[in-house]
Amino acid sequence: MDLYKRMSEKDSILISHTEKNTDLLGPYRRFVIWVHGCCFECEGCLAGNTKNGAYIERDISELAQEILCSETEGITISGGEPFLQAKELFELISLVKAVKDIGVIIYSGFTLEELQKNEDSFKLLNVTDILIDGRYIKELDDGRAYIGSSNQRLHYLSDRYKNIGETYYGSYRRRAEIKIYPKEVVLVGVPSGDVLEVWEKLKEKSGGNISDF
Ligand code: SF4
Repeated sequence: MDLYKRMSEKDSILISHTEKNTDLLGPYRRFVIWVHGCCFECEGCLAGNTKNGAYIERDISELAQEILCSETEGITISGGEPFLQAKELFELISLVKAVKDIGVIIYSGFTLEELQKNEDSFKLLNVTDILIDGRYIKELDDGRAYIGSSNQRLHYLSDRYKNIGETYYGSYRRRAEIKIYPKEVVLVGVPSGDVLEVWEKLKEKSGGNISDF
């Protein structure tokens, strides 16, 4: 299986969901993008909707403009697997960075070492400040606030967040928000066991009309 098979060949990105202003997935206020599609099958994956659910194709320039209009310190990219669209995300970040000095945090199922072997991924790493890497392993879920399982590593690829990173990512207080939109209800953040239990019951009762990211 070619893990790096491109998701898109156009000036667009396949997106499952965006949140314009949240502090649940990285320091400060952030614009969060959940890309569509993943090449992994982690047991207990909490982002199943990014693999099997609805998605839209967003024009890269338009999305860059939307990020620039948001009052956020930076962007967090999760998925799905962001590096399946490494080239498109590099273009997006380059467009935004040409206008504003934003921070970039990416969650990936690939390890840093795997990513460094691929040219497009290597370029995306060069514009990334923090990479949280590795597959999610349910048995190794130790309750850390912003990292799913203990095998996953946090890499500072620049100095941007080094001063606050230890405090922020060392926390064991998991936080999540339920967002209600006209056509959907979504769970944003990394939920604690209790919240997850309630959320799973809600999902069951909704008949598939609500999603987790
Ligand atoms: S890499 Fe992330 S999105 Fe993909 S299966 Fe694993 S937990 Fe789910």
